[in-house]
Amino acid sequence: MRLHIGIDDTDSPNGMCTTYLGALLYRELSRLAEPIDLPRLIRLNPNIPYKTRGNGAVAMTFEVDEETIPEIKDTVLFYVNQLSDFTHENTNPGVVFFEGNTPEELREFSLRALREHVTIEEAERIAREVEAEYFKFKVGRGIIGSLAAIGYPLERFTYELLAYREPDNWGTQRRVDKESVFLADSWSYPFTYDNLDPYKRSVLITPHGKDPVLVGIRGIDRGRVIQTFERVKFKEPVAFYQLFKTNQNTDDHLTYKKIGELKLYDSAVVRGTVVKPYWERGRHVFFELEDETGRIRVAAFEPTKKFRNYVRKLLPGDEIIAAGGVKEHEGVLTLNLEKFYPVKLVPRIEYQKPKCPKCGGTMKSKGDYLKCKRCGHKMPKKLIPVEVPRELERKIYEVPPDARKHLSRPLVLPGGEERVLELLQAKGLK
Ligand code: ATP
Repeated sequence: MRLHIGIDDTDSPNGMCTTYLGALLYRELSRLAEPIDLPRLIRLNPNIPYKTRGNGAVAMTFEVDEETIPEIKDTVLFYVNQLSDFTHENTNPGVVFFEGNTPEELREFSLRALREHVTIEEAERIAREVEAEYFKFKVGRGIIGSLAAIGYPLERFTYELLAYREPDNWGTQRRVDKESVFLADSWSYPFTYDNLDPYKRSVLITPHGKDPVLVGIRGIDRGRVIQTFERVKFKEPVAFYQLFKTNQNTDDHLTYKKIGELKLYDSAVVRGTVVKPYWERGRHVFFELEDETGRIRVAAFEPTKKFRNYVRKLLPGDEIIAAGGVKEHEGVLTLNLEKFYPVKLVPRIEYQKPKCPKCGGTMKSKGDYLKCKRCGHKMPKKLIPVEVPRELERKIYEVPPDARKHLSRPLVLPGGEERVLELLQAKGLK
């Protein structure tokens, strides 16, 4: 019989990581039962506020003998009890066990947890309906992620190899040879990606927190992911590593919505028209987008760096496809931009001064008049409209790797362009 196990919300910014607990459990349980496939690291809605980092939950499936099920369940609950960071108010672990084939209701619940906000009560109701067994620790919010990770269809997937640190080193600076990361990346990119930021020349595989992760290597080819890891030189011991199958970088979180349908914490793709010129506050760039159902504020925040320059090139009247997450910013519902695609751009008109009709010299503005700098000829100020290039192409613009959501598909990957556009094509909107 198949036994699915889901765990979530065991960590806090002060330490631990649900993947670490999952990797330990996967090793331990593989002694008791036959694993079906790799453990799964499932990223859920990136916009919900309770997340510690990337809103990740872990699930794994085993072929089990009926009589070992109690031992397996005891082991899981023991590990969660021992290793969760219960001291943090925002750590509310949840464990779910499900026997048999995952039903459609669970799949639908998963996709909702990926794209919208769901409640603990809804998770409990679904768990009861499908007869999943669940354990809540403290508030037990983790059952949302645990249940969703079990039911997740994972039709599109990538891999992430996570290597963990010896406990003595937790909280200290990670010691990884930078040059070896650059060499490994040049060998495997784009089959592995996001290993580094080529512009800042910085390493991206090492997280910064107190958690047990030493490095995470992402890729679309499991062999290359492992070999890339083998090419990286470490200056501290690697406790162990685990390869996960994951929905990271699939764009699975995005669904097409009308602007009027957008709700807080949704992840969505919309198509609309830019309403008025962009404006800036702090270092964030904002504009407004509307379709026939409504209007929403769109933001490219400071950490998206150079991406903001493309946003600044948008003009009122431009039609674009925009992908992102809905959050509240200063009390206003705001689409936090991840990608955009210019569909139709209005002509950009600049008003230029004519040349002097007498001598061809350059004219200078003098109030309502123009005066030739060379011959002094004066004439009423009448500017000439000239169409200038738009400097935006018909392609997807995306935020840089360090500002990208785990679920967002980098353009360099196969299907990186298509997924967002497909959603619109399906609706006959592109
Ligand atoms: P890490 O990535 O390091 O594991 P995290 O960012 O995954 O940390 P969690 O500690 O897992 O953060 O917290 C996320 C919490 O939000 C979990 O309790 C999870 O069950 C819950 N959750 C996940 N998706 C949703 C959703 N769509 N609506 C409401 N709650 C959700």
